[in-house]
Amino acid sequence: MILDKRTDGRTKLTGLIGNPVEHTVSPVIHNSLFSYMGINGIYVPLKVDASGLEAAVRGLAALGFTGFNVTIPYKEAVCRLLDEADGEVELLGAVNTVRIRRGRLYGYNTDGEGFVTAFKKQTGTGFSGKKICILGAGGTARTLAIKAVQEGAGEVCIINRTVSKAEEIAGYINGKLLEGSRPGKPVLPLASGAEQAHAAIDEADIIINATSVGMFPDTDANPVDDSVEYRSKPIAYDVIYNPVETRFLRMARMKGCRTYNGACMLFYQGIRAFEIWMEAKVPDDVSEELMASFLKYVGV
Ligand code: NAP
Repeated sequence: MILDKRTDGRTKLTGLIGNPVEHTVSPVIHNSLFSYMGINGIYVPLKVDASGLEAAVRGLAALGFTGFNVTIPYKEAVCRLLDEADGEVELLGAVNTVRIRRGRLYGYNTDGEGFVTAFKKQTGTGFSGKKICILGAGGTARTLAIKAVQEGAGEVCIINRTVSKAEEIAGYINGKLLEGSRPGKPVLPLASGAEQAHAAIDEADIIINATSVGMFPDTDANPVDDSVEYRSKPIAYDVIYNPVETRFLRMARMKGCRTYNGACMLFYQGIRAFEIWMEAKVPDDVSEELMASFLKYVGV
């Protein structure tokens, strides 16, 4: 029998807390990084009930974990348990990466940076001066809208089923975040299905699906009406990566748009989280090589 000697008393412990966590592919990224970089470490998914969230977080600190990721639905709730939060957590109101040092919890958010890095690498373009439609007004849409504005987007329409949530994000960005640093109100909240939303989609340079609509197993759903023509032939980006091509991406591709899914975004937020935990840079050649294998693994 071959002995498995991958873990011992010095193994660095990391993981992911969320609910559900059954379908996560983050362990593939982090455990491969540990192997590639010759670090004695492990990353495990940990399903946590809401009633046990605080006990679980305190438990990870007590058990000597190096750090952990936080996913749906706890990215906002874990903010309250941090000892210190970096500027990105304050800005986005959510935490996805926690580093534990001497029992203290330091919070970071790598989702925004992961998205911006991935988007630029995948599309070869950025956000400056662009007309952007973001579908959704949940935590991810909020992160993406803030980053797009910080990256100099010309106009950002937030289109959501519950328009009050889009209004809240627009109010925050146009008001508190920008505080007169640029003229006008670059963020416009719109209701899904409204005529103005259709017009915005038809004139956009970039459309990003940041809803969960179309995600496995509900793969027939599309956050945009199938009849939309995408007249300006925008870049269509979906933060979902399961399925690899959502209905939104399929329809946009059939109408002449360049399309991208969220696997690369997930990968880069993971790379940054790993760097925070290990306090070391992942060399570019390692991340490029690993990304190629990872994208193949998730079917891109
Ligand atoms: P969230 O806060 O729960 O927000 C969900 C959004 O989807 C809301 O805008 C919601 O609209 C909308 N929505 C849900 N069901 C809908 C329906 N049937 N019809 C119309 N709209 C609907 O979730 P989140 O954290 O922002 O995550 C959103 C997606 O991003 C998820 O699929 C998640 O897996 C993905 N994600 C990907 C990455 C990555 O690295 N690739 C990272 C983070 C998240 P209402 O406000 O009207 O309810």
